[in-house]
Amino acid sequence: MDISNTPIANINEDGSIDVLLHVHFECTCCTDCCKLNNIAATEQDILNLMELGIEVDQAIEVLSPVLIPSKNIENGFIKAYILRKKPFVNECAFLDEKGMCKVHEFKPLACQLYPFSIRRRNGGYEVIIHPNCVCNFIEIDVGEDKSNTLKIVNNLMANLSLDDGNK
Ligand code: SF4
Ligand code: SF4
Repeated sequence: MDISNTPIANINEDGSIDVLLHVHFECTCCTDCCKLNNIAATEQDILNLMELGIEVDQAIEVLSPVLIPSKNIENGFIKAYILRKKPFVNECAFLDEKGMCKVHEFKPLACQLYPFSIRRRNGGYEVIIHPNCVCNFIEIDVGEDKSNTLKIVNNLMANLSLDDGNK
């Protein structure tokens, strides 16, 4: 069953959270998402990678703009580009031979949020399972006692700096 795009929670304009679906997820570091996805890197992500001495053309594949929702700017979206792949292989250029991320400390926000994503909704946000979900470790419709939906959403809000209501 394809669970991509499934909403799991709403973040309301006042910062309150409505859980829509109880899920359980713990990342196993299997690296499937580094091998099977196009990863969006924002301009800030690219600047972060440049702090490691990585040039722009080493960081992103082509200028393939995608839009990421944000409260930070007037039209509500940030431009982003696709992270570079290894030649002739559909896996991220920053995945090493041991399956570790070479840029872990500076990895793009999309990597930090995966396998979830966020989109704007009614002045707030909707948290969804990533539109291109290749992760096999999300259990959906689990009981409330097993659910960590709230923890997932709180981590995501912290990563996106959505928790102070000013950004
Ligand atoms: S998010 Fe999912 S696919 Fe990616 S490394 Fe973690 S468990 Fe694997
Ligand atoms: S930057 Fe790191 S975490 Fe992100 S896709 Fe590449 S190897 Fe995976």
